[in-house]
Amino acid sequence: MSRALNFNAGPAALPEWALKEAQSELLNFRGTGMSVMELSHRSKDYDAVHNEAISLLRSLLSISDDYEVLFLQGGASLQFSMVPMNLLKDGQTAYYALTGSWSEKALKEAQKLGKTEAVISSKENQYKNIPALDPSSIPNDAAYLHITSNNTIYGTQWHDFPSGLQVPLVADMSSDILCRPLNVEQFDLIYAGAQKNLGPSGVTVVIIKKDLLARSSHELPTMLNYNTYAKNNSLYNTPPTFGIYLLSLVLKWVEQQGGLTAIEKINGQKAALLYDEIDQSEGFYNGHAEQDSRSTMNVTFTLNSDEATKSFLTQAKEAGFVGLNGHRSVGGCRASIYNAVPLENVEKLAQFMKDFRKNY
Ligand SMILES: *Cc1c(COP(=O)(O)O)cnc(C)c1O
Repeated sequence: MSRALNFNAGPAALPEWALKEAQSELLNFRGTGMSVMELSHRSKDYDAVHNEAISLLRSLLSISDDYEVLFLQGGASLQFSMVPMNLLKDGQTAYYALTGSWSEKALKEAQKLGKTEAVISSKENQYKNIPALDPSSIPNDAAYLHITSNNTIYGTQWHDFPSGLQVPLVADMSSDILCRPLNVEQFDLIYAGAQKNLGPSGVTVVIIKKDLLARSSHELPTMLNYNTYAKNNSLYNTPPTFGIYLLSLVLKWVEQQGGLTAIEKINGQKAALLYDEIDQSEGFYNGHAEQDSRSTMNVTFTLNSDEATKSFLTQAKEAGFVGLNGHRSVGGCRASIYNAVPLENVEKLAQFMKDFRKNY
């Protein structure tokens, strides 16, 4: 059976190497006579998997000892609540940059827990761009500034992160973590649901600066306090062991590709294939994102009539392309080209777009 041309937005394509590795070890993991799923999370065999995932992530992102790397559950969506629960104190205000639906949802949860303020918004512009953010618009006593580094639904991405801030910077990186080299030191908390660029759904990675941990109130429920995970190496309760194992395989694969510099280069090539076709098409394809805010992970576009968009999606589906429908809230088309989507699959899609344009 051949593998699908998978452009799903999340859960999304995984590296074939990681899947085959998991398959080969499924019944007998490293001589244990059982699968990773059947190991005790207190065993030394599982401990090795768990710690390897952490150290691979530390090494790929050059994460210093000033940060904790945590594995949680509940998806990025639970982080929308946990971030303000742990970091937003009475009398403080948390600032949110509104660049798409996920940032709106993050803000909505924070509003339930404390004082918030939207600092920039491209909503009036249908979230086509990432507006410039003036760091002096955030008061020094703010709880934090929250951004969404890649807007999965609208297809926009921050290319320069806010600098010169006097307050902690928190980022939802669910759909672009590990797509390029990152200076973690610019951030105080990074979170990401795994199912786009890191592995299967069910694991959420949190990278948090240690000095922020002191902010969490002791009154918080145990499982909603970052300190519980930091103190127990994310093993206070049963972690999603199989997901963390697959995460470790995906991280090994990223390393085999040459790390984040090499990954960024391939991602640039993949994105250029699709954006070049959009730009050359003279309005046949209309990119949703403004050029300087384009995402290398989610390429969003429409055709010049609903009829044409529909016909494109139908024919693409017949040709074997999966997941090209835009998010149900915005329609149109979206090609999600995360790290694990092979270059040759994107070449095939670019060719399909060219052929469709000539024949339509
Ligand atoms: C997918 C996504 C989410 C939601 O993730 P869940 O793990 O389903 O909660 C949040 N933020 C961004 C940027 C996403 O792409």
